Amino acid sequence: MTAYEEFQGYFAELNDLCCVINLLTWDARTQMPPGGAAARGRQVATVTRLANERFVSDTTGRLLDAAEAEVSGEGPDSYRARSVAQAREAYTLLRRVPTELMSGIAELKMVAQQAWQEARVANDFGRFAPDLSRMVELNRRLAEAIGYQEHPYDALLQRYEPGMTAARLRGLFATLREGIAPLLARAAPGSEAVRADFLDRDYPEEQQRAFALEIAQAFGYDLNRGRLDRSAHPFEISFTRDDVRITTRYNRRYAPAALFGLFHETGHALYEQGVDPALARGPLTTDLLDLYAVGGTSYGTHESQSRLWENMVGRSRPFWQLHFAALQRHFPEQLTGVDAEAFYRAANRVRRSPIRVEADEVTYNLHIMLRVEIEMALLEGSLAVADLPAAWNAGVREYLEIDPPDDSRGVLQDIHWSTGLIGSFPTYTVGNVMAAQFFAAARRATPGLDTALARGDYAPLRGWLTENVYRHGRAYSPDELLNRATGASLDAGPYLAYLRGKYDDLFPPQA
Ligand code: ZN
Repeated sequence: MTAYEEFQGYFAELNDLCCVINLLTWDARTQMPPGGAAARGRQVATVTRLANERFVSDTTGRLLDAAEAEVSGEGPDSYRARSVAQAREAYTLLRRVPTELMSGIAELKMVAQQAWQEARVANDFGRFAPDLSRMVELNRRLAEAIGYQEHPYDALLQRYEPGMTAARLRGLFATLREGIAPLLARAAPGSEAVRADFLDRDYPEEQQRAFALEIAQAFGYDLNRGRLDRSAHPFEISFTRDDVRITTRYNRRYAPAALFGLFHETGHALYEQGVDPALARGPLTTDLLDLYAVGGTSYGTHESQSRLWENMVGRSRPFWQLHFAALQRHFPEQLTGVDAEAFYRAANRVRRSPIRVEADEVTYNLHIMLRVEIEMALLEGSLAVADLPAAWNAGVREYLEIDPPDDSRGVLQDIHWSTGLIGSFPTYTVGNVMAAQFFAAARRATPGLDTALARGDYAPLRGWLTENVYRHGRAYSPDELLNRATGASLDAGPYLAYLRGKYDDLFPPQA
């Protein structure tokens, strides 16, 4: 056995452990009875500890040294060299983090999620505040352990979006905010005149599921290597590329929420199913920092794929011109007297809503900016957890010019902080921006792409994405991947051009 083969075998078992963590997580969120939460928390903590101990051990160091020597002559594009480099980078970073800190965060997650759920139901921030304070404190210690140049947020960002920094985000957000403001000023009042009464009818689950699955499969989701379940929060999760699952929740009174949610998770799933089989069970399909089995470059890159399929394809006019008839066949009574254009317009209304997950494409990033500002302030210590609800409400007023009705629909609406995710929100906006860059590059490289999309042939788009994004797994950093695929680094230009093209058409500027 060569040194690389030994390294590979060792990491394959680590990936197996990560797949077990994913499977326990999937079960907890789709099947497990509520009483199982505490026991499951311990199980996840145990397997996570085993995986972590294995990864940060001296054995890993020795295997890495030997594998590095073997692949040293290989070019920068060799997956072997990339695997070893990725593993080395994560190893170096995690060795700086005390094991008790990682397990402390893992244990707190389980308790904090429960507290957050109760606090949200009771509209009582005070019930979540102590766990959140502890979570912020542990993340601050994590940032110190990882190390950073300018801002503690930079350290946490490395876990989700390597290469991203607080300073880069501030620049990106400023550009976006300036571009979005005039669109919002027109689209929000303009949307009030858009007919949408037909969305608020009774849409039985079975038909929603049937239609959404037809579309997911048309996009290319392979049900032989996937399945769809229900959960309180929609998500995608994988246990290698051969078992990639998605979930959704159904809202009978507002069918599009479930449909677009499913298109979104399908985008994530296409990424996972499209990873090169040669990368299976290796470091390039393992998130070694967070110990999950994931085949995508970064959170933002993953999100770029869910948003590309959900919004740029699934929320487009050509999409509904083609597929509205099928939707109408599933819901003949609900959609009587409605046509494709009316549905397209209703599905693209722009509203100043306090709820992020209900946000449209124009306001979505404003929700993110607010959260990121707050996370940075919490980490710096310039904002205390006790003052968080007031800061939240002030931020919503500033960005959206509305008041949240209560904390449940305000500061308590997102699960993220209770699960220890601090520093992941920006990846949603980064994903939006990257999605437009990838889509524009796919258009340039694929003659006839729009004609194919208009007739429901998604193979050319999926093919370009598979070739340029999916198959590489985690082989490249987000910046490298973007540059290779689109010829540019992260750039808000194509995204703002996309938004202007769409919303200037829907809500034309008055001459
Ligand atoms: Zn997503």
